[in-house]
Amino acid sequence: MVRVRYAPSPTGLQHIGGVRTALFNYFFARSQGGKFILRIEDTDQGRYNEESLEDLYDTLNWLGIQWDEGPDKDGGFGPYIQSQRFDLYQTKAKELLDKGLAYRCFCTTERLDQLRKQQTSEKKDFGYDKKCRDLDPLESQKRCDAGESWVLRLKIPEQGKITFTDEILGEISRKTKDVSPDPVILKADGFPTYHLAHVVDDHLMEITHVLRAQEWIPSTPLHVLLFQAFGWEVPRYCHLPMVMGKDGSKLSKRHGSTSVRDFRLGGYLPEAMINYVSLLGWAYDDSREFFSCKDLEELFTLKKLNKSPAVFDYRKLEWFNGQYIRKMDPDKLKELLIPILQEDEIIHQPATEKDLEIFEGAFPLIRERLKYLKDVSEMLRFLFKDIEGYDISLAIPKKMTQEDCLQVVLQLKPLLAQFKDKNQEEMEELFHSTAEERGWKLGQLMQPLRLAVTGSKVSPPLFESITLLGLDKSLERLDYLEKHLTKA
Ligand code: GLU
Repeated sequence: MVRVRYAPSPTGLQHIGGVRTALFNYFFARSQGGKFILRIEDTDQGRYNEESLEDLYDTLNWLGIQWDEGPDKDGGFGPYIQSQRFDLYQTKAKELLDKGLAYRCFCTTERLDQLRKQQTSEKKDFGYDKKCRDLDPLESQKRCDAGESWVLRLKIPEQGKITFTDEILGEISRKTKDVSPDPVILKADGFPTYHLAHVVDDHLMEITHVLRAQEWIPSTPLHVLLFQAFGWEVPRYCHLPMVMGKDGSKLSKRHGSTSVRDFRLGGYLPEAMINYVSLLGWAYDDSREFFSCKDLEELFTLKKLNKSPAVFDYRKLEWFNGQYIRKMDPDKLKELLIPILQEDEIIHQPATEKDLEIFEGAFPLIRERLKYLKDVSEMLRFLFKDIEGYDISLAIPKKMTQEDCLQVVLQLKPLLAQFKDKNQEEMEELFHSTAEERGWKLGQLMQPLRLAVTGSKVSPPLFESITLLGLDKSLERLDYLEKHLTKA
């Protein structure tokens, strides 16, 4: 049976790449009728941070990803938090020491620093010089008994080659001499390094496939060596293509938000996130773009993963989000929007009848326009709040001066007043013909009006907004802009 795991280290917020790994593992397990395991890799106590653990659960819960086994769900292979498996790693490490496949290293930090400096000055990569590799086991034991501090290092064979097959990249071979020389597998504080801990766990948890980021490829030969040192079967590897920004460098904060929390709080829908992230390095065919979580649970296959890096396109995610907002059941969408309006103090808490009435009136207009749930506050503020000043420069259309803009506003007032007896279509015509007569572009007429009425550059369609707000109020606001333009 397929058993896969998502094994984050709680050292930071869940980011796009991590969540993609989680999703692919999850979909793979589901599509194969296998098990998806959540394991917390917290052996790096120095970098452990509580907040990131909370963030991990919040993120997976928000996405609706449920694990079959994990810290709170024992499937007979627990515990699933590495710091609770401390003794196990000790026992396994001792096995390697006893077999002569690993050795205690007593080199001090000062010596290693010195070594590093020397290698840097010689322009060499840093690598342990294996000083303790041939220490006599009895002496090693004696020094250990005397309380000297040590770490355990794996003996990398000096000759030979390691070969493994990656489900995406095919066969990969490395000479053992190119593997980092004798890496630490147990630290001085007794904690295992990631390399040892995850190999032990992947074996004991009977993990069949390791789906993880491609950045782990350079370490995989070492992991294969560890499996072999224990005499264990090596799982199947599948290293997922890198996620890049549009400029071709690895996706990072430089490109924008990368933590899923930012997207969640920014008003993205989990459905949109899942859909878009699943297309980072995976495609069902050349054309299909929309996939629900359920679809992916059925359709996901390793065969359709790409070799080449995926590019994270913020605009595309935004587009998906808009699509999912429009697909959503209107009542469900309202249920999500109202709390946002309350949180942003646009409407009362609890909402008054008047609040709800205005919101209901505006809902059909914004539904078509929301890119993010959070846009709702900016879009509807003008219906609930008075305008208390704005950046006047936003009212002034391109290629116009403040004085020109004032002329536009003066012209707008009688135009707007005609709203009383005209329908929307007639109003539109009127605006067009006036703009033409005056030699203005329609946009030059609309921009000051939009700012006056809504206080913002984004709003539902303008004429509808005026109807929603009421003509008197709209005219009042136009006066207000006129005053600003005159005195400023
Ligand atoms: N704890 C590692 C990480 O956070 C897991 C890598 C792996 O999947 O083997 O990247």
